Amino acid sequence: MNKNITILGAGLVGSLLAIYLNKRGYNINIYERRGDMRNEKITAGRSINLALSDRGWKGLRSVGIEDEIRKIAIPMQARYVHNEDGSVSKQPYGKEGQAIYSVSRGELNKKLMSLVEENSGVKIHFNHFCNHVDLNNKTLSFSSGPVDSRQNSPVSYEVLFGADGAFSSLRYSMQFLDRFDYSQKFIEHGYKELTIPAGENGEWQLEKNFLHIWPRHSFMLIALPNQDGSFTCTLFFPFEGEPSFSSLKNENDVEQFFAKFFPDVIALMPSYKDDFFRNPASSLIYIKCYPWSLGDSACLIGDAAHAIVPFFGQGMNAGFEDCTVLDELLNENGDEWGKIFSSFQHSRKDNTDAICDLALNNFIEMRDLVADPHFLRKKKIEKMIMADFPDRYISPYQMVSFSDIPYVEALDKGKQINQVLEQLTRHENPETRLDSPEIQSLIQTILFG
Ligand code: FAD
Repeated sequence: MNKNITILGAGLVGSLLAIYLNKRGYNINIYERRGDMRNEKITAGRSINLALSDRGWKGLRSVGIEDEIRKIAIPMQARYVHNEDGSVSKQPYGKEGQAIYSVSRGELNKKLMSLVEENSGVKIHFNHFCNHVDLNNKTLSFSSGPVDSRQNSPVSYEVLFGADGAFSSLRYSMQFLDRFDYSQKFIEHGYKELTIPAGENGEWQLEKNFLHIWPRHSFMLIALPNQDGSFTCTLFFPFEGEPSFSSLKNENDVEQFFAKFFPDVIALMPSYKDDFFRNPASSLIYIKCYPWSLGDSACLIGDAAHAIVPFFGQGMNAGFEDCTVLDELLNENGDEWGKIFSSFQHSRKDNTDAICDLALNNFIEMRDLVADPHFLRKKKIEKMIMADFPDRYISPYQMVSFSDIPYVEALDKGKQINQVLEQLTRHENPETRLDSPEIQSLIQTILFG
């Protein structure tokens, strides 16, 4: 039985995976490119808040660390939409009591690393940048240690997981294999982080338990609450065009842009102009590849296998679900890694492709449709259907965020539901006619048929 496992990357997924595998008695070595972030301050402009939802919680619960993470998570029960005309509206994410949770990526990662190191038999080797995976000889080469004393030091592996993110070194080596499919796409938008600090007495300057959105058609600003009373804001914005990162060249441009599109934010964000020029504009990519594994020796997991855009808040959640699925396969197959990897990639690939599509679609919904009258009408009808069929109707958003229904089913069902809602919006006054036999039969057939 193979008891030694190597993981590339001590990010969110690599760390959680290590906890899962260590509980089964494996010895684990994790090689992480960066230094130990627990000793370093998270750089401003790079802090990122993540929305943690049911699939993520399930991944944490199965290894008994859910309660520990809940301590650093803030529930957000609805979208709080700040419209262009200054009006606001609240769009609940699900039923009463359902919420997604804001967590700082850095804090979560630090916590997971500490939980990893609580276990014996796991070692995280920091400052180890893997620059080559030799798949034939099963060795890894690293640039390790401080930059001026780096040396290549090959390390052998028996079973290797690539949890090293969107620019995975394991995946790079696999790209040279025959019949390995790979595609990547940078979208037109990037993102920049800004901050709404806590008020004078440490209070939240916006309502706390919401994900705030300022949808502005071709771009949007969002704000997620932090535990210290601040909000981490992200401006999703095109790189080129008018307006865009490249068109805002100086403080005056930024000032005019905010005055036009986010006037209510200016008073809350005193350093927005400095932050705008200090913080980087980062790009957004999605990546698809297949297969994810090589025989019984190596497998990609998390963003390394399926990086997606962040607009459904599911990248990490999908990566944590990878760990849950892998764990179930270990229950069924013992140490037969070839079988496990093959079933794993087979069961996950369609689902991660589906969440990739759902995330791309959700960007349009978030930046544009949440303020669009036709979309709002569909949402209103959907709400009425939910009220009429509380036990039977689950919206696509709920399927993705508040269940572990396979993503591929959520995507298919979402398309069907959209058709029904489109049909219903064409009726003169669906609000009063939802109980007509014609509409009831439409709902029954398409939604539950
Ligand atoms: P990563 O978090 O990228 O971790 C990879 C690790 O590997 C890192 O520690 C890295 O230093 C290390 N590494 C990389 N290369 C090497 C190498 N060659 N050698 C050694 N180590 C290496 N997801 C959600 O679920 N909800 C959200 O709300 C959400 N919001 C997001 C917002 C933004 C702006 C972005 C960019 C992403 C968001 N995501 C969200 C996605 C989420 O951040 C990722 O899906 C998640 O971080 C993936 O985890 P991972 O461990 O697979 O990869």
